[in-house]
Amino acid sequence: MKPVIGIFTNIENDPNYLFPGYLRVTINEDYPRSIAAAGGLPLLIAPCDDLSIIPEAIDRIDGVLLAGGQDVDPLRYGEDPHRLCGAPSPLRDRFEFAVLDAAVAAGKPVFGICRGMQVMNVYFGGTLHQDLTEAGTSIGHLQATNPAWGAHRLTAAPDGFVGLATGEATATVNSFHHQSIKALAAGFRAVAHAPDGIIEAIEQTTGDQVMVGVQWHPEMMSHQDPHAQALFAWFVNLVNQTRS
Ligand code: MN
Repeated sequence: MKPVIGIFTNIENDPNYLFPGYLRVTINEDYPRSIAAAGGLPLLIAPCDDLSIIPEAIDRIDGVLLAGGQDVDPLRYGEDPHRLCGAPSPLRDRFEFAVLDAAVAAGKPVFGICRGMQVMNVYFGGTLHQDLTEAGTSIGHLQATNPAWGAHRLTAAPDGFVGLATGEATATVNSFHHQSIKALAAGFRAVAHAPDGIIEAIEQTTGDQVMVGVQWHPEMMSHQDPHAQALFAWFVNLVNQTRS
């Protein structure tokens, strides 16, 4: 039996649907494709108002993947919205915070991508730059080129999960984020940085649970970039080894 990786989807108003503005559950196909290519069984789980389903959902999956999407509501980390902060999704924030409650209680491995890493950092008490203009960088982290192409360089700690998964201390990664980690949550360390010091990957250093995140989108590169696919292979393999 393949390890089941729950991919927690987005939910958003779709202006182009048959009924414009209808609330739709969405996920880019590259998330399940990357998990399946790594030997996992992807299972999509949509946000909803009934948080009581979450512990059972977590019980039925072996690993958690928190996907990209909206900005985390700054009220979650004790700030009012910056004028450049995007519209949050309180429903999705509520749902994914409860997912982390259950994943922590069950000790299930968690991999966060982009927003997923930011949700993780905020959940554990960290904060975000609400817009990268706040972070004082001149590197473009919001690329306008093909998402499968790398946009900026990266340095990874050799003993961090990115370095261990890929066997590389440097990489070129894509970049589609206008926010970044400001205060790193207690119990975490940054394991990859952009040349401007922006945190591009984190991992929890306390306890036995695997709790990791990346700021870039390896799923958008994984079909042609072994470095990107290696992160999914590492995660699925680890989930396979740790599941009960
Ligand atoms: Mn970046």
